[in-house]
Amino acid sequence: MTNIEMIRTYGHEQVAYFNNEKAGLKAIIALHNTNLGPAVGGCRLWPYASEEDALFDVLRLSRGMSHKNAAAGLPLGGAKGVIIADPSEKTEAMFEAFGEAVNTFMGKYYTAEDVNTDTKDADYMLRTTKYVVGRENVSGDPSPFTVIGVYDGIRAVANFMNGSDSLEGLTIAVQGLGKVGLGLAETLHEAGAKLIVCNNSNREAMQYAVDKLGAVEVGKDEIYGVECDIFAPCALGAVVNSKTIPQFKCKAIAGAANNVIYDDAAGQALKDKGILYAPDFIINGGGVINAGQEAFTTYDKEKVLEQVHNIYNVVYRMLEESAKTGKPEGVIATEYAESLIYK
Ligand code: NAD
Repeated sequence: MTNIEMIRTYGHEQVAYFNNEKAGLKAIIALHNTNLGPAVGGCRLWPYASEEDALFDVLRLSRGMSHKNAAAGLPLGGAKGVIIADPSEKTEAMFEAFGEAVNTFMGKYYTAEDVNTDTKDADYMLRTTKYVVGRENVSGDPSPFTVIGVYDGIRAVANFMNGSDSLEGLTIAVQGLGKVGLGLAETLHEAGAKLIVCNNSNREAMQYAVDKLGAVEVGKDEIYGVECDIFAPCALGAVVNSKTIPQFKCKAIAGAANNVIYDDAAGQALKDKGILYAPDFIINGGGVINAGQEAFTTYDKEKVLEQVHNIYNVVYRMLEESAKTGKPEGVIATEYAESLIYK
């Protein structure tokens, strides 16, 4: 498939390549859709093996942002930027040059931090562009809002499963104890859930979870097969796949990670096994609801929280619709988002 055919398949409005040799910038910005408003999506820095890999990633991620922003009820479209570089090559000049690249969209694209980019890098971008959200002194770190949304989504799943959204006594397996996973584990513990956890770095976080939250530690390959009510992936994508599905003993999957389901066949296999699934881009939308507000109005934490708590209702609706139609929850979620974008 040629690049333009690939772009057409994903339905993008615009894809632009940027080269600034002096600043060491090689980047692609993909503007997927602006039907609902200016497009928001972070800037990922990754040492892609090839330009094709970078294009594939930015197309997939930017379409995902259109779905996430629409499903969150935001007046925002979806986009994403990728910088092709090793994290060790990061410079201030690189991000200043990325800011200039963002300016070429004249307000149709707002960037933010993402994998391998942080608030410091966003500050360098702010020297050359005003189109940055998630600023430190405005909406700040999105992770606590992601935790709130994932927690609400998990309660909605519990309600659908058990007729009550109490998590008291439920066993929840949390994969990954990073910014979201650890905060979620704390919140789940406060709600009376029993925890099983794994993490592949940060011994301190693991020790805290075991000592203070009463969590049971398991190995990173063991987590898929543990007996639990809910498996909460908060580390990697594609963890629901042909290798893990036969191992699952959970009743539902609901966590923060992006692109949890490997492909459509995995989504169907999960459904056939009778495991409920809270669609990733709906349950993990708290962070973008928080940061995205900067792109269209004055930041107001109360309004953000109101919208984040609505994740409970949307997740519940997706589960109901899936049960009614027999379609996997991820398919229902995509159809819902696209019905808002292309209405
Ligand atoms: P993070 O990098 O802070 O934490 C990820 C954690 O997962 C780390 O502690 C890491 O050691 C662990 N991990 C990595 N591979 C693992 C493995 N194989 N087994 C067990 N643990 C493993 O990231 P985060 O900000 O907490 O985000 C977690 C996930 O949620 C990511 O997939 C991210 O894309 C997604 N997400 C995050 C936000 C947010 O606001 N931070 C918003 C939406 C989605």
